[in-house]
Amino acid sequence: MKIITTIPEMKAVIKEHRSAGRTIGLVPTMGFLHEGHLSLVRAARKKTDLTVVSIFVNPAQFGPKEDFKAYPRDVNRDSAMLEKEGVDFVFYPEADEMYPRGYKTYVEVDDLEDKLCGRSRPGHFRGVCTIVLKLFQVIRPDFAFFGQKDAQQALILMRMVRDLNLDVHIEVLPTVREADGLAMSSRNTYLNPEERRAALVLAKSLKEAKRLIDRGERKAYVILGKMRAMIGQEPLARIDYVEAVDAEELNPVRDIGEGTLIALAVYIGATRLIDNIIVRPER
Ligand code: AMP
Repeated sequence: MKIITTIPEMKAVIKEHRSAGRTIGLVPTMGFLHEGHLSLVRAARKKTDLTVVSIFVNPAQFGPKEDFKAYPRDVNRDSAMLEKEGVDFVFYPEADEMYPRGYKTYVEVDDLEDKLCGRSRPGHFRGVCTIVLKLFQVIRPDFAFFGQKDAQQALILMRMVRDLNLDVHIEVLPTVREADGLAMSSRNTYLNPEERRAALVLAKSLKEAKRLIDRGERKAYVILGKMRAMIGQEPLARIDYVEAVDAEELNPVRDIGEGTLIALAVYIGATRLIDNIIVRPER
């Protein structure tokens, strides 16, 4: 496994492998890896000849009051994990490699970027789309792998790929959870033991939603109401949003059905966590 830090070197390596006819899989990450990331890496390894994992804490997707500085970083630990998975290249650029002085170009997916997480994180998805498009340009992947955990991100990126006619297929993989149900996230490291316990309320409220749906409940206001009440019982939790939307346009639905995205963002103490489910047909 080789760690590459510059765009010219990354491009040169990619050129060589592409001309040898190899397919390329990209897993974009911000590092501090966990099993969720590794599930994407394994999918990439399975699907493509060459796996590239990028590690870049992207300043453009953090708001001025957000945790860019505090975001956990440990590239040595990450590299060891990726080496074990049989990754071929890690792309690990510095911030000014991706955004040199005078950088001015940004990509936006109208409308979708303002919904759900976009409401409390203005500019976040503009930062995400910009960095992912740049990574696509440098690495030219045939397939790129993303997690369902960040459902809105995946949907927005799929729309960007479609709208800009990019030659990459986006694969979205299921959310990997801790044994007790908490969705894995690099930000879980911010939680103290009490908050870690409180954070379970996200997954629990989604589980309750699923239980109600399985019992035949369809009304969004009933299901979301129960979820909000459940989260409201947890003193350390503060709701940012709890919504049921269609998984195309992210518009609220009145009746929950197949394909509905039930998504939430909740502050546990100072840490903002997200989770979601997509309602699948009953079997
Ligand atoms: P991040 O490093 O948080 O930017 O995440 C990099 C990629 O890993 C994104 O596509 C995330 O959706 C995905 N990811 C993060 N957490 C999980 C998880 N628990 N399960 C599956 N994918 C995840």
